[in-house]
Amino acid sequence: LKALALFSGGLDSVLAAKVVLAQGIDVLGVTFETPFFNARRAILSANAISLPLVVLDITEEHLAMLQAPRYGYGKNLNPCIDCHALMIKIAGQKLAEFGAEFIITGEVLGQRPMSQTRQSLYVVAKYSGFPDKVVRPLSARVLPITEPEQEGKIDRSRLLDIQGRSRRRQMELAAQMGIADFATPAGGCLLTDPMFVKRLRELFSHNDFEIASIHLLRSGRHFRVNAQTKVIVGRNQADNHLIHQYIRDNDLVIQMRDYPGPTTLVPDGCSEEDMYLAASLCALYSDAPKDQTVFANCRQGEQVFDIQTQAADREQAAGWII
Ligand code: SF4
Repeated sequence: LKALALFSGGLDSVLAAKVVLAQGIDVLGVTFETPFFNARRAILSANAISLPLVVLDITEEHLAMLQAPRYGYGKNLNPCIDCHALMIKIAGQKLAEFGAEFIITGEVLGQRPMSQTRQSLYVVAKYSGFPDKVVRPLSARVLPITEPEQEGKIDRSRLLDIQGRSRRRQMELAAQMGIADFATPAGGCLLTDPMFVKRLRELFSHNDFEIASIHLLRSGRHFRVNAQTKVIVGRNQADNHLIHQYIRDNDLVIQMRDYPGPTTLVPDGCSEEDMYLAASLCALYSDAPKDQTVFANCRQGEQVFDIQTQAADREQAAGWII
């Protein structure tokens, strides 16, 4: 008998997996990746407890859901109810492929105000299309009995009755089981990050965008110089590195020819006029003297050429910042 565990790598998902493993049921973890969250924490936690883990990229399905979530958004652009339902749906569709009988999650009744109320847990399971396959081991005994419990596939009496916002029971359980809290301070879902969300909304307001453009929202300075043209300027080496990772053939890439400075990207290229503008932004954030004409090196696909530029006006640049 095997259970498929939605496994974020957070303590609750670890405890849920452990509680089910303790019944002699095999557990296979499944975790998801999109441009908004990655599998890093899940991989670390799964390794720490020797849980086999499958990582699924659900960018396409998640993006489609994100643009029209049935149950709306949380505080930022986080459609948590729809997101949980989508994850359960995808896990449900994979049950047969992985030879699993049902799904477990680390959800705890009442832990989160929006996505883990009694009503939300019900809605999430129902909307996923697999309401009879979802067991929440940490709160099972304070929730209605599920099909796997009824059928004796999992022993309800050995599941838990945790509810509410306090983390006390989870911490106690973790200590008993000798589990560290694997939650890492970094990471988390970018859809709850106001700064990222501001940029994402702006991107969505312009019809055409590529997945690479979403990844690029994570770093650099972003300027909307007009309806057609956006300019991304790296702030440091890490930004420049990320920008290089997502350059596509038709993007325009600008760097100062004779001075250290940022990698500057114009996704999908731009008019000649906007190219000069982008070069002036590149110069502004470079080590080039601000009051002199300097050279910027431009590259678009196979084409490489230099143009003359001068640093943009700082105030005007500030007005374009997204
Ligand atoms: S915080 Fe992000 S990953 Fe988590 S449920 Fe909400 S939208 Fe999904």
